[in-house]
Amino acid sequence: MKKLSPPKINEIIDLAAFSKSHTSEIEEVTTLLKKRGKDLWIQTALADDLRHQQVGDKVTYVINQNINFSNHCIGSCRFCSYRVPSNSNHQDSERLSLDDIKLETEKAIARGCTELCIQGGLDPEINFEFYLDLLKIIKSTAPGIHIHAFSPSEIAYMSQISGETVEDVFKELSVNGLDSFPGTAAEILVDDIRQVICPEKISTSQWINIVLTGHSLGIKSTATMMYGHIETLENEAEHLVLLKNMQEISKGFTEFIPLPFIHTNTVLYKYLGARPGSTGMHDLALLSGSRLYLGELFSNIQTSWVKLGSKFSQISLNVGVNDIGGTLFTENITKSAGGTHGEEMSAEEFIDLIRDADRIPAQRDTLYNILKTH
Ligand code: SF4
Repeated sequence: MKKLSPPKINEIIDLAAFSKSHTSEIEEVTTLLKKRGKDLWIQTALADDLRHQQVGDKVTYVINQNINFSNHCIGSCRFCSYRVPSNSNHQDSERLSLDDIKLETEKAIARGCTELCIQGGLDPEINFEFYLDLLKIIKSTAPGIHIHAFSPSEIAYMSQISGETVEDVFKELSVNGLDSFPGTAAEILVDDIRQVICPEKISTSQWINIVLTGHSLGIKSTATMMYGHIETLENEAEHLVLLKNMQEISKGFTEFIPLPFIHTNTVLYKYLGARPGSTGMHDLALLSGSRLYLGELFSNIQTSWVKLGSKFSQISLNVGVNDIGGTLFTENITKSAGGTHGEEMSAEEFIDLIRDADRIPAQRDTLYNILKTH
C-alpha cells in the first residue's frame, strides 16, 4: 500500500500559493475552455486523436446501480434539490433501512451489476455504525460486488459524528467493504465560488485532504467538476490544474467526469443569478480540453448521459471521451434538480450508441478492467 508523504499534501493545500505558482498553467487551460467556432472543432479533432493514441477505440461502460439511502441533510447546498430538511417528516422523505438496502443489492445482482454506487444526505438520524452496517449487509448479500460509496462530504461528516480522524474513518469503511469512493462534492474547487454555491460544505482544502487520504490508503476515487453556474472559465481551469496536481501525487483517480449544472429547480438558479447550466459548445470545449490537458494522467474521461442526454453523450465520444458511465437503474439527484434524461440506460442501449459512433463497446468494472468487449 502506497503512503503519501504528508509534506506533499501540505504543499498542495496552500491554495493561494498554489494558484500563484500555477498562474500560467491556469491561463493555458482557460484558453482551451474558451475555444469556439472553427478553433473548437480543431481542438475536438486533436482531442479525439489523442484519445485514440492514449486509450484506443474502445468506449467503456459499467453495469451499476445507484442507491441513495437518505435525502435528509443538514447541508444547504444551493444547487441541490434532492435534500429535504433534516428533522422533518417531509412528504418527499426517503430513508432506506438496512432491509431496503439488502433488497436493492439483490436487485442489483439480478440485473448483472458489478458496482453499487451509494451516496446520501448528511442525515442527523444516521450514526457511523449505520454506514458500517450498510457496507456489511451489502457484502454479506453480494460478496463480489464493488462498493463505490460516500462522497468526501460524507466522509467528513462521518469523521465529525464518530470523532475519528478521516484516515481512521476510511480504514473502518475499507475493512467493512468500501472499495472506492465518488469524487463528488468537488463542485468547483475554488473557495470564493463554494462560499456562494455551498457555503456550509467542506472547503477546497478539506476536499483535497480527504481525497488524498483515501488515495494514500489505496482507495481510489473518481474526480468530478460541476460547471455552468456562477463560475468563470478561469475557475474551471484552476479546478483542472488542481486535479492534475493531485493525480501527480497520488495516481488515485480512476477518471474525470465533468458534470454540467442542472438548474431548473435550484435556489442557485432561481434566486442567485446562476446561469442555466452549460451550453453545448462549453461542454465540447471542456470535454476536449480535459482530454488535451489531463489525458496523460487521467486516461479516462467520462461523459455524463444523465446530465447531457444520450444524443449529446454520443456526440461527445468524438471529442476525447472514452467512457459513457453506468446503467444506474435509479437516479434521484439529477432528477430532483430538473434533469430530464431518465434514470437508467441498458447495456444494449450503450452498445448501440457506441457502435453507431464507430467505436468498440466494452463493459468494464469500476477500476477500468475490461470485462467484455462487444
Ligand atoms: S449536495 Fe449533498 S450535502 Fe449538499 S445539501 Fe444536497 S445532499 Fe446535502
